[in-house]
Amino acid sequence: MNQIAEPDAVEPKPAEAPLPPGLYIVATPIGNLGDLSPRAASVLARAEVIAVEDSRVTAKLLHRIGAKRPMTPYHDHNADKVRPGLIARMASQPVALVSDAGTPLISDPGYKLVRDARAAGIAVTTIPGPCAAVAALTLAGLPTDRFFFLGFLPSKEKAREEAITEVATVRATLILYESGPRLGATLKALAEGLGQRDGAVVREISKTFEEAVTASLADLAARYAEAGPKGEIVVIVGPPGPRPAATEEDADKLLRAALEHLPVGRAASEVAKETGINRRDLYTRAMAIKEGD
Ligand code: SAM
Repeated sequence: MNQIAEPDAVEPKPAEAPLPPGLYIVATPIGNLGDLSPRAASVLARAEVIAVEDSRVTAKLLHRIGAKRPMTPYHDHNADKVRPGLIARMASQPVALVSDAGTPLISDPGYKLVRDARAAGIAVTTIPGPCAAVAALTLAGLPTDRFFFLGFLPSKEKAREEAITEVATVRATLILYESGPRLGATLKALAEGLGQRDGAVVREISKTFEEAVTASLADLAARYAEAGPKGEIVVIVGPPGPRPAATEEDADKLLRAALEHLPVGRAASEVAKETGINRRDLYTRAMAIKEGD
């Protein structure tokens, strides 16, 4: 009988085996504590120290897994000061990094810690797990093949509008973090800045009142105009509709610009990709432009 090869399994290490020194990025639940992975629990229980945003939040998690580990604060206000000491520790001890919820570094502190650890030749290991952005994407029922994560938009009206204008032509689903009190204003700005698009307001993922409300951006803006809902929120915006067909004039403009830095064939290919116009036609046109029309 043919043996079917088992996929490479990572042997679970006995709980008491010490962790090698280095930095461990540990994702934690975004609501349901049952989402803490066994590997995350095992790393947290064996870390020499855990860099945390808020020790009260992480203490609850440690209590749940029956572990007591030293914690040290690592957040936006002290990160620059404490980073060098943490990096020095990682050379000889396992140091874990967690945020209050979800994946560290994603709209949370940590990237500079990873950058500096790498520069110092420290081993960096990630323990993947919950992330609100990806979890919301799986609930929204909007295209997932290309997505663009915006984190939190600026709170000031003008800066928020500018940030929205900047991404208006991005051909991808957009993901934003938001809070209840700002939701109405953000949805209104998105509807005004992006026009007719589908969207979703995804709330309280993995908690008792998890919900995903899907509608057009305009309808969502109207629904949440008065009072924002309670809890934690991710806003998903579907990609823009198909581009309007490019005119000959558009194609000429693009070809002239491309010909400034590309040979004829490459210019025709680039513009064909951008406009959907037949490459051979564009090549003929590009030759004519090159020869002075
Ligand atoms: N690092 C985290 C992650 O991996 O998702 C995100 C941290 S960011 C400071 C917190 C924001 O994530 C919240 O304001 C909310 O927009 C979103 N968020 C976190 N937990 C959520 C949940 N259970 N449901 C919906 N959104 C959540």
